[in-house]
Amino acid sequence: MPDTPTSNAKQHEFKAEVSAVLSLVTNSLYTNREIFLRELISNAADALDKARFQGLTDRELEGKELTPKITITSDKQNNKLVIEDNGIGMTEEEATRNLGTIAHSGTLQFLKHVQEEQAEGKRPDLNLIGQFGVGFYSAFMVADRIDVYTRSAHPGNKPVRWVCKDPGKFTVEPTDKETRGTRIELTLKEEATEFLDRWKIENIVRRYSNFVMHPIELTTIKDDGEQDGETKQVNEGSAFWARSPKELTEEDYKEFYKHVMGGFVMPGDEPLARVHASLDAPIQFKALLYAPGRPPADLFMEDRKSVQLYARRVLIVENCDKLLPLYMRFMRGVVDSEDLPLNVSREMVQEDRKISAIRRQLTRKVFKMLDALAEENAEKYAQFWENFGAVLKEGVHTDNSHHKQLFKLLRFRSSTSNESLRSLQQYVDDMKEGQEAIYYITGENAEAVARSPHLEACHAHGYEVLFMTDAVDEWVLQELKEFNEKPLVSVTQGELEMPEDESKDEDDAEDSKDEGNIDALLKKAKEILGERVKEVRASKRLRTSSSCLVDAEGAISRNMERILKMAKQSAPSRSRVLELNPKDAVVKAANQLAVSSPDDARLGNWVELLYDQAALAEGEISDPAGMVKRIQQIMLEVAKQG
Ligand code: ADP
Ligand code: MG
Repeated sequence: MPDTPTSNAKQHEFKAEVSAVLSLVTNSLYTNREIFLRELISNAADALDKARFQGLTDRELEGKELTPKITITSDKQNNKLVIEDNGIGMTEEEATRNLGTIAHSGTLQFLKHVQEEQAEGKRPDLNLIGQFGVGFYSAFMVADRIDVYTRSAHPGNKPVRWVCKDPGKFTVEPTDKETRGTRIELTLKEEATEFLDRWKIENIVRRYSNFVMHPIELTTIKDDGEQDGETKQVNEGSAFWARSPKELTEEDYKEFYKHVMGGFVMPGDEPLARVHASLDAPIQFKALLYAPGRPPADLFMEDRKSVQLYARRVLIVENCDKLLPLYMRFMRGVVDSEDLPLNVSREMVQEDRKISAIRRQLTRKVFKMLDALAEENAEKYAQFWENFGAVLKEGVHTDNSHHKQLFKLLRFRSSTSNESLRSLQQYVDDMKEGQEAIYYITGENAEAVARSPHLEACHAHGYEVLFMTDAVDEWVLQELKEFNEKPLVSVTQGELEMPEDESKDEDDAEDSKDEGNIDALLKKAKEILGERVKEVRASKRLRTSSSCLVDAEGAISRNMERILKMAKQSAPSRSRVLELNPKDAVVKAANQLAVSSPDDARLGNWVELLYDQAALAEGEISDPAGMVKRIQQIMLEVAKQG
């Protein structure tokens, strides 16, 4: 075969994003270049899976008699590392497209991220490269030239050779190749010849590709062209999940977890829990699923990874998101069933009743797994919650049939919990005598809501207040109306009914009836604020602050409004209720003024400032300049008096 592309080779240029990836992989420094082998093996395994799967329905497919296999040849004589499979292969058009563009949406995002990190002088983590579908190009870390010989298993296609030996471009031309599949020849860079070493290759394969289900065979050729020892299979190559849990160690499970996650996990990413189940009724299947130790990068992306579906050991759907409800999409692993027809198509999977049956069972298993984790290891459960709580909470809104299980798993920070997480059950168990409700506050983050004046009455009674600071909590609250027959009550909404404070001041008792009556001020304040507030009333929830804003009963919360705005959705406009603290000295003084000289100009200023303070406590003030003026005005008055 000619070493250089012939004159009838078609010239192509890489698309811009590929060039960007290539310059990244060739110009950066790596500590683990070896992942290139994992990427090429995983492509070869994919190609074998595709051939097996398509062969089930396509009678014409060539090479069905072949035993699926991946072979690696280390050729020291020619300084080449060759990875070959007898899988689906590529047509000319496919080779040009698949090895010249980047199809995945996550990739460009990833690239941007890497470039930003590089700009900041950091060393970006290129291990993630495989997750983003630029795996093939990682071979350029070790090779300065790549020749791909490929023949499609679909009849009527001629084999082609794809060659890249100069930066930025590649050629595609006809070639000879007898059987279907793909052979990738890497001409190694001078500083990468270590990857010809038999021991090194065996090690890498075992580290990253041990659980690839097809045999990976290694042959080595010495400098003199003679074969070095026997050809031998270097990976385990069996269905891990079909083995009995009894014969598996924790280490085995961790290894397989790596395999499931694409061959590599970040340091410290150990699965938090797992389900390894084998069921026979109502449907036969085996499943091995993990709750990852770190949130996968694609959790909120459309084309995220999911659970792999096998039928009798044949991979039929790479990412099957029908095996679990969407709110359990953090689970990663494998499901394998004897009961599924092998020729089930992707579309059929969506509707298949057997898939629904598996899904019901698996959902149950995952709930059981989470219950056990929560019970046995609060620390790990907290980590799980940190990673995936927001995802799981989606279920409260989307899956009524599992409310009971979901409510049990919910965790919140609270006004008394410090950093730790509280369950609803714990909340109810610790309720104070006379406390009738579960109190909560919604808002942007724990720090902000913790300082909110709305908590004052609860503080005074020693009542715990749950912090609902995930955007999704607003949807949770639409479903979570009560727990153990205790209603959930917002401290920022409606009138807060509470028992009288226990530690009533002595002088309070002596107070005349009129003490605490601020009707004159309330009336005046409503006049001054006009449409900006729905109502001004005396507060039952304030203890130390002068004023706060609350949402009217049944109105959407300020937090919900914030979220809708963020999502660029229109929020219904609504005015809020201003509450004034009748025990507060400033409020009392203002009331006196409203009684004695209702037309005093200062009153307007004071009311505005009480309103400003309430808005400020929520961290949002519409007219800061106006507020500054008002404060200056008051200071001036005080100065004059002094
Ligand atoms: P990904 O595997 O994530 O799709 P890669 O960069 O690793 O991304 O590969 C790009 C594409 O090239 C693959 O999706 C596949 O279509 C094609 N490809 C790569 N290697 C092979 C192979 N050995 N056999 C058939 N097709 C392949
Ligand atoms: Mg790949």
